[in-house]
Amino acid sequence: MSTTLIDPFQRAISYLRVSVTDRCDFRCVYCMSETMQFLPKKELLTLEELDRMCSTFVRLGVRKLRITGGEPLVRRDIMTFFHAMGRHLESGALDELTLTTNGSQLHRFADQLHAAGVRRINVSLDTLDEAKFARVTRWGRLAQVLKGIDAAQAAGLRVKINTVALKGFNEDEIFALTDWCASRDMDLTFIEVMPMGDLGGEDRVGQYWPLSDLRARLATRYTMTDLPKRTGGPARYMRLEETGQDVGFITPLTHNFCESCNRVRLTCTGELYMCLGQEDMADLRAPLRASADDRVLEQAIRAAISLKPKGHDFDYSRQEVAGQMSRHMSHTGG
Ligand code: SAM
Ligand code: SF4
Repeated sequence: MSTTLIDPFQRAISYLRVSVTDRCDFRCVYCMSETMQFLPKKELLTLEELDRMCSTFVRLGVRKLRITGGEPLVRRDIMTFFHAMGRHLESGALDELTLTTNGSQLHRFADQLHAAGVRRINVSLDTLDEAKFARVTRWGRLAQVLKGIDAAQAAGLRVKINTVALKGFNEDEIFALTDWCASRDMDLTFIEVMPMGDLGGEDRVGQYWPLSDLRARLATRYTMTDLPKRTGGPARYMRLEETGQDVGFITPLTHNFCESCNRVRLTCTGELYMCLGQEDMADLRAPLRASADDRVLEQAIRAAISLKPKGHDFDYSRQEVAGQMSRHMSHTGG
């Protein structure tokens, strides 16, 4: 049997994003409602099951694992899992083990992450203003995240900042964020807000702010050059000539990246989403638990990949948001 996963559109699946928990110590306004109901623990894959699941994907050709959530670093004993995945880096089966985090626990775990083989991490941060940070995350404290970023850099982790572009919220901060990242030698990527989850009509703090507008604003100060680098994902990169920084733009609502999509997403309950923007998923927990023989799981994974859709249906172009997803971002981990 082939050791690569090829979908019906001849895309090789080499990148798995894994949500290890739906819980979080923040309640970002665009991601969760304040009164989120979390899953009962028994629904979650155990750390051993997560290991089996990820190791099977690695055997089938996945070369990059991104751990996400919810907040991955609030899952109990998660370092055990990172260290376990480190063995695939050592064997050469995996090229990269990485994570996306809100940064709140980095001061505790940065050294251990580096010891497990993690070299680059993404930290989500939408503002450098303490009061605004408290407003957008509801429960977060900026100082703790900044301390975490310091710890990550001190541990030798390369940090990329992910900033969700929110109209009327951080429009006035894009230069401050860009300069701050340049001064700390951190990469920066802006993300367009996506219609995920029912947030209960709460104060959404800002709204959809198209990255085309954000880019135009950056161009009033910087000379911007398109970069050819592609990651198989929805990011496009531009170089700011004056600072030498590469800035990424993730516009999930445009279709221009689907044709090179190399990724699938596993939720903390073992559901595999073949596309962030589609409801189709395959339950991998049942085949995992049904048999100790990994071939059963392998077959289920291959069957799921054979159903990967061509692309997604998000569309902001009409007055209402079309293609809105009922699940929350914390479910699939973004
Ligand atoms: N808790 C971690 C964090 O915040 O980095 C990992 C999980 S979080 C769901 C992953 C990413 O999704 C974060 O960068 C967050 O800003 C982004 N995100 C959450 N809800 C979003 C939405 N509705 N639209 C666009 N990005 C969103
Ligand atoms: Fe938590 Fe990340 Fe969602 Fe914010 S974006 S609530 S930090 S999972």
